[in-house]
Amino acid sequence: MTRYMIGIDIGGTNFRIGAVNQEYEVLKHKIVSSRTFLEMERPVNGLLEAIISFIKEIEGKPCGICMGFPGTVTKDKSTVLSCPNLPVFDGVNISKVINQALDIPVIIEHEVLLLLTNDMYHFSLFDKNCVIAIYLGTGLGNAIYIHGRMIEGANGVSGELGHIPIPGNKTPCPCGNIGCIEPRASGKRLEEICIEKGLPEKAFTKALADGASDPLISDFLDHVACAIATEINILDPNCVIMGGGVMMISNFPYDALLERIYFHTRKPFPAENLKFIRLEPDPLQGVRGAGIYAWRYMNKKKSSLPYD
Ligand SMILES: [Zn+2]
Repeated sequence: MTRYMIGIDIGGTNFRIGAVNQEYEVLKHKIVSSRTFLEMERPVNGLLEAIISFIKEIEGKPCGICMGFPGTVTKDKSTVLSCPNLPVFDGVNISKVINQALDIPVIIEHEVLLLLTNDMYHFSLFDKNCVIAIYLGTGLGNAIYIHGRMIEGANGVSGELGHIPIPGNKTPCPCGNIGCIEPRASGKRLEEICIEKGLPEKAFTKALADGASDPLISDFLDHVACAIATEINILDPNCVIMGGGVMMISNFPYDALLERIYFHTRKPFPAENLKFIRLEPDPLQGVRGAGIYAWRYMNKKKSSLPYD
């Protein structure tokens, strides 16, 4: 009988659920509407039902379940702390509810750590000293790998790069603070630019058509670049993974962004030795990453490390 982990990638519109074997292959997956849980009085019960229905389609019981949320989670990987774009799970101990119902180990994690896990496996980067990832989507996602482990911090909430403050910026951030860089450097900002240009709300391709020559797009790119260059200047990484839905838009002025990052990065190093990997769209990135993370994490359960 095949041993497998369940990997789940939770989004506001849909979530993906898949079975990942020990060779890190996605054996089976499906997309489920997030209405399944959004419309329920206890959203975690909707998640539970979706998991039970998926498991029925596969032979055998899963070895564990790992779920990625677009927000911060507690260091013990049980409870969502804050998901500004999906607040129904804030404060909910998801691991406990699902573990009690199914008697299977359950961990939840910030989705960016699962994406980075997938990408490090895909590009064989686990032997590198330091890898950082930028996932530019609705927000400015970030994950950091140093000296053989994901960095999680004292409270488990490291890598909140989108929430570095900019002096003089009065924009409120969905996190509750004022002046974070993310409202100026995210897909949300691109939506505003579309509206300022008189375009439909999500006409990103059109908004990006003029590239860095457009003052609004140039300002957006410079804010993204400032955030990334800040982290590069602190960590001097071996490589920077560049992903997220916005980075994958066909018109995205990627070269202009790299130029701005170089501009803001300390010379001669790390500036002269920057290595970037630009990701291609992969709808299973989050599911596979959750499965790999579950295999690696649960094999190291006695350790305090997320994994090494
Ligand atoms: Zn913030």
